[in-house]
Amino acid sequence: MNTKRTCPKCGTSFLAVADYCICPECNCRFFASDPARPLKHELPSHIAFHATDVDSTEEAGVLNIWFGDEQESYLAFQRVCDGHEEEYGDLGGVYTEVNDQINSCVEGYSSVVLTPKSITVEFKTKTVMNGLVSVVAEFDIGDGFVDFAVRFSDLMRDKDAFRLVVE
Ligand SMILES: [Zn+2]
Repeated sequence: MNTKRTCPKCGTSFLAVADYCICPECNCRFFASDPARPLKHELPSHIAFHATDVDSTEEAGVLNIWFGDEQESYLAFQRVCDGHEEEYGDLGGVYTEVNDQINSCVEGYSSVVLTPKSITVEFKTKTVMNGLVSVVAEFDIGDGFVDFAVRFSDLMRDKDAFRLVVE
């Protein structure tokens, strides 16, 4: 649902779906629900964490995949499901987010490797994700990996950057 947003810096009004907005006029970034909320701009070049929460959901034609730990680290993916592209005016991109909405991109990765024990994402350039070059999340979901790998492969369907490595 598009909602009218007003840029706190230049006053331009525009329509946006997400709470995290980028002003089309002055390129200012802000959270619509709280324009005073600070934006974290600099991430370390490498982030590694142990994901205790690994989940995937499909809702209203959108596939969400999540790796999170017990603190603040997470790696999330989102993509419109096959057959729903037209409904969303979607171009088939995979959205990736790390630790905060401000650290997000569409098709910003250069490689995505899934194994039964880990997910590793490398990004094309340092600027794509605020300095982050690679993120690794280790996990142990046992036999659940078989179904999970099917879901994840569906997320990355037709993407050459994706590799599923099962030893
Ligand atoms: Zn603005």
